[in-house]
Amino acid sequence: MTAERRWNGWGDARVNEALEPEALAFLERAVGAGQPRPDASLATALAQVDEQPSRLPPHPLVDTRAETRLRASFGQSMHDWLRLRFGVLGRVTDGVAFPDNGAEVRTLLAWAREHGVQVLPSGGATSVAGHLTPVGAAPVLTLNMGRMMRLLDLDPVAQLARFEAGVAGPDLEAQLRAHGFTLGHFPQSFELSTLGGWVVTRSSGQQSARYGRIEQLFAGGTLQTPGREWTLPTFPASAAGPDLREWVLGSEGRLGVLTEANVRVTRAPAAERFVGVFFPDWASGLAAVRQIAQARLGLSMLRLANPSETFTTLQMAGHAGAVGWLERYLSLRGAAEGKCLLLAGFTGASAGSVRAMRRAAAAIWREHGGVSTGTLLGEKWARRRFAGVYLRNALWDAGYAVDTMETACDWPRVGTMVDALESAGRAALAQHGERTHCYTHLSHVYAQGSSVYSTFVYRIGANYASALARWQSLKTAVGDAIVSRGGTITHQHGVGKDHARWLAAEKGATGMSAIAAMVREFDPHRVMARGNLLGDAE
Ligand SMILES: Cc1cc2nc3c(=O)[nH]c(=O)nc-3n(C[C@H](O)[C@H](O)[C@H](O)COP(=O)(O)OP(=O)(O)OC[C@H]3O[C@@H](n4cnc5c(N)ncnc54)[C@H](O)[C@@H]3O)c2cc1C
Repeated sequence: MTAERRWNGWGDARVNEALEPEALAFLERAVGAGQPRPDASLATALAQVDEQPSRLPPHPLVDTRAETRLRASFGQSMHDWLRLRFGVLGRVTDGVAFPDNGAEVRTLLAWAREHGVQVLPSGGATSVAGHLTPVGAAPVLTLNMGRMMRLLDLDPVAQLARFEAGVAGPDLEAQLRAHGFTLGHFPQSFELSTLGGWVVTRSSGQQSARYGRIEQLFAGGTLQTPGREWTLPTFPASAAGPDLREWVLGSEGRLGVLTEANVRVTRAPAAERFVGVFFPDWASGLAAVRQIAQARLGLSMLRLANPSETFTTLQMAGHAGAVGWLERYLSLRGAAEGKCLLLAGFTGASAGSVRAMRRAAAAIWREHGGVSTGTLLGEKWARRRFAGVYLRNALWDAGYAVDTMETACDWPRVGTMVDALESAGRAALAQHGERTHCYTHLSHVYAQGSSVYSTFVYRIGANYASALARWQSLKTAVGDAIVSRGGTITHQHGVGKDHARWLAAEKGATGMSAIAAMVREFDPHRVMARGNLLGDAE
């Protein structure tokens, strides 16, 4: 069976996840009855594309058919969804090329420069920050990297793999697993997102505590910049001046197209366990995960849900009988109202090493009142770690929008950051006479601090204008709350166009002009991915 990508939502069109009746009842109590509405049809969307004839001169590698252009013009941000679902497309790309190798990418870049065409590379199109929205006056060519998915070389001694950068998560892991290796990079968008996209947006996988963020995994590679090919060699470490890999990491398509990437791989683990632990309250959960991270025990994942997210998870799980039983048990053990769920991942070369890690972590969580429920909840999470994303489709069908905002900050700020994000989201929707149900988890926990990841569920709105206004208020309020409290505007989703207005708050004027100068150096004729990172400032 070949996957057929949904054109106006998440994932494989043949896969559907249903909401439990308990979940719908819960949301109705939390934010009101959903506002389901008919989606724009594919035919309507295609008619809108036809109203914008392609401005590209013909090229044998460029496809300008309406459906190809439509499918290449959107990522997965809420703004992307609103435009597709309400049939208010706005600007679409002028054409799409599917290069098969670096030489074709070079040819297309040269052609684009010659004809004054903007180039927008695209991987899995899972951006949630507006990276793929065409902007500027010039015609836009999207370079879909999906055909460049081969494993080119695997060095089992140095544990380095060289891949074409368009390879998506499942294809990358399958090619490595065939040789007994793994990259261990599992963002929630794993099913569709690509190695090149991960590198240039500084992605973080769910088990980055063991394997590292993509910054640690990316060892070097080849970038086709407009006019030049640039190869970064691999070293285990180097003191030779600035590390130029950092220029590619987070470059968001602005410097060129990453065609190949060398990544640090590890032997596939022999043993892995995910355990669910409940804490009586948020303060004890926070203290425990900080202590575990700072003890550097080598866990692969620490994911702590706040009371609201824990409550939501249990309410929306269905299985009311089993959940009731669990709640009574936890209550007897001191974790009642206000409890917080920690999912902890233990990954290792042997069952013995996993057991030892688990014992060491358990000693810490017990000090903070943590009650382990064993592997039942953890293994369920692991089994469904990429399936839950499909609920976004089901929630939309039921009339609810779901958006997420995320940041990272040092430990002393984590508690207030969570409150700030949630309060800002609630106040933003209140301006529209609406409620949002918000909940938060710490998805990546470090010795220095933590990421903070908040989800907002609210009613979509009766029409495009009101839905857009709700989303814009939410985005603005939560983004402002993040930067005013000293958080980064993004821990893992990147900047794109949607977060560009906040970038200067953390980079400063000097940093922003250095980024602009770097873009000019690699792309003097402004061919690449306009608007990303620098936004309106350019
Ligand atoms: C449901 C969902 C869950 C998510 N979960 C996570 C998560 O857990 N962790 C996380 O880090 N992110 C997550 N994301 C965000 C997103 O998946 C990441 O930003 C991912 O790295 C994007 O990869 P992509 O291949 O889809 O890139 P795209 O969305 O196609 O592109 C993103 C940017 O990268 C550029 N680009 C892509 N490929 C190349 C290339 N080869 N050369 C040059 N530029 C390129 C594009 O021009 C664009 O600017 C999630 C997104 C969704 C929708």
